Amino acid sequence: MTAAFRIIALFLACWLLLPLNGFTWGFFAHQRINRLAVFTLPPDMVPFYKKHIRYITENAINPDRRRYAVAGEAPRHYIDIDVYGDSAIYKMPRYWQQAVEKYSEDTLMAYGIVPWHINRMKYQLTEAFRERNVDRILRISADLGHYIADACVPLHTTHNYNGQLTGQRGIHGFWESRLPELLSDDYDFFVGPATYIEQPQLRAWDLVTSAHMALDSVLRFERELTQQFDEDKKYSFEVRNNVTVRVYSSAFSRAYHARLNGQVERQMRLAIQTVASFWYTAWVDAGQPHLTGDISEQEIQLLKMEEKDYDKGSHKAREEGDASLPPQHQHNQHLVLCCGREEE
Ligand SMILES: [Zn+2]
Repeated sequence: MTAAFRIIALFLACWLLLPLNGFTWGFFAHQRINRLAVFTLPPDMVPFYKKHIRYITENAINPDRRRYAVAGEAPRHYIDIDVYGDSAIYKMPRYWQQAVEKYSEDTLMAYGIVPWHINRMKYQLTEAFRERNVDRILRISADLGHYIADACVPLHTTHNYNGQLTGQRGIHGFWESRLPELLSDDYDFFVGPATYIEQPQLRAWDLVTSAHMALDSVLRFERELTQQFDEDKKYSFEVRNNVTVRVYSSAFSRAYHARLNGQVERQMRLAIQTVASFWYTAWVDAGQPHLTGDISEQEIQLLKMEEKDYDKGSHKAREEGDASLPPQHQHNQHLVLCCGREEE
């Protein structure tokens, strides 16, 4: 091997993975979930949400953008349920107050709070509907859609969120970004109408539970397939935004996807139907107000400022993880490159 070739090979090897545009579900899947949820709403809600569908779609990714700018944002996207021991998924107190009493707020915040945060957002959305506050209705609807979608991702329910404990680093973005981006065009997204949720807090836990049940397959199938694929067949290189990146190859992605037997599609469908049902439930609980009106100029300016702030890169310093959490809870490792940069 010539020295030059070796340097190039080393350089390529350094572009460790992955999903280029997402921290959770990929931006692509989040936007698709929020967008499709609009079409399952009842006739009294659909005109308003359709009118603002662009807002609901584009802002589906705001909570991920805020993760680096807003203290306390990161834990809202996941729960490392397995750190609480065997069968914790069944034993964990469902309601926030009881959970705080049992484990303390600091502990809950350290390991993620997604199911409780969904319920909290549902209350806020109900309030926004009661106030007929268009800005807040849209903002909270978009955010709530994001957290619900996150709760449907198996790797958002475990301490081993990026396969880092099992030699499968990169699997997070693989499952939630690479697979839907590559293969979701064939999914059946007709999920049926939104339905009223009697107990939103328990429903949020149902999501986490079903995602956690799927976790074993997510990890096991990747491990089994890896044994059947040579390293150079498992990965390939793609140029994105003028940067060469290593990605899971199309062949490996398709084989894994087939082995998962519709799992990604099922979780996306679950997310879409649940997002719409939470919006609908909040609206019913608020007394089914007539929905009308536009986003205020003030809100538009605020969104622009937030976007600028994000583009300016104030989040960059923490892209490898949330410094407020112990390293093992840094949930953004799939953005980490090698070349001497720490991974976990
Ligand atoms: Zn997220």
